[in-house]
Amino acid sequence: MLITQFQAHHLLTRNEVIGVPTETVYGLAGNAFSETAVAKIFEAKNRPTFDPLIVHVASHEMLSEVVSHVPEEYLELMQHFWPGPLTLLFQKSTEIPDLVTSGLPKVAVRWPAHPEFQALLQSLPFPLAAPSANPFGYISPTSAQHVMDQLGDKIGGVLEGGECEVGVESTIVDVENGEFKVLRLGGIAVEDIERVIGKKVAVQTSSSQPAAPGMLDQHYAPKTKLWWGDIQEGLKLFEGKKIAVLSFMASEGDYFNQPLSARGSLTEAAAHLFKYMRQLDGQGWEVIIAEPLPNIGLGRAINDRLLRASIK
Ligand code: AMP
Ligand code: MG
Repeated sequence: MLITQFQAHHLLTRNEVIGVPTETVYGLAGNAFSETAVAKIFEAKNRPTFDPLIVHVASHEMLSEVVSHVPEEYLELMQHFWPGPLTLLFQKSTEIPDLVTSGLPKVAVRWPAHPEFQALLQSLPFPLAAPSANPFGYISPTSAQHVMDQLGDKIGGVLEGGECEVGVESTIVDVENGEFKVLRLGGIAVEDIERVIGKKVAVQTSSSQPAAPGMLDQHYAPKTKLWWGDIQEGLKLFEGKKIAVLSFMASEGDYFNQPLSARGSLTEAAAHLFKYMRQLDGQGWEVIIAEPLPNIGLGRAINDRLLRASIK
């Protein structure tokens, strides 16, 4: 059910959970100070409680209630990229329940840019914990309809906010002893972060013991088998199967092709990624062959998602 700002506000104050639009992907939001609301988020998504949630704020005052202090190293990043698709890790305040951070001492925080989501946050006396609004492990939702299709019967409703402009999740950055680390590739390119802080950052996005379960190896996956690699190689490997090719730009050949961006824009490709994966997943193909994109800018985040969506 689609709901209004007024209904969204009302449901959240009663510790219900709802779908919300953000510029990255749709979120499943609840009162970040309420263990009851946060537990409902995990339950609706069927998300393991070892996978911590991102807390969303829309003012410095709200930020100060969520974190124990703001490291000086973050100030330039906050100034450049907030509001926007950048998530930063902070020591958490005592107001944040351990369930939000899966018991970790740090909390992930983001100041989102989507106007409807900002308006909602600003109307509330508490921040919102919100992971992506998909069943755990499946493709993230980039429209209100995606959320309704998959979680509609488990949540209070969805606030409509159009299609997500960025289309992939936020970039997650941590700082420890002055050293920056990217824990998840996302909507802000690593190159842009490096430009702002004036030094290289380490990218540490894969782990068998995830500090950040966006780091889990298998994630964001369609039900259809997805193979990530060179198109010609994939066509040989799966000869005789019903194949769809998810390419960067239009690709010529005797097969069904869905380009992510006909004009070769990585930004557009990111915005289309999850929508097209979902569409292909519903069309009855036996295999989706997804081609690697140029590994620069948002291409890195897209490759990361495709790799995690793929069979090993
Ligand atoms: P989602 O919003 O579904 O993309 O999931 C939020 C992601 O943020 C998690 O899967 C983690 O990767 C990351 N995250 C949230 N909180 C923390 C934290 N305290 N430390 C490290 N990573 C975190
Ligand atoms: Mg997610």
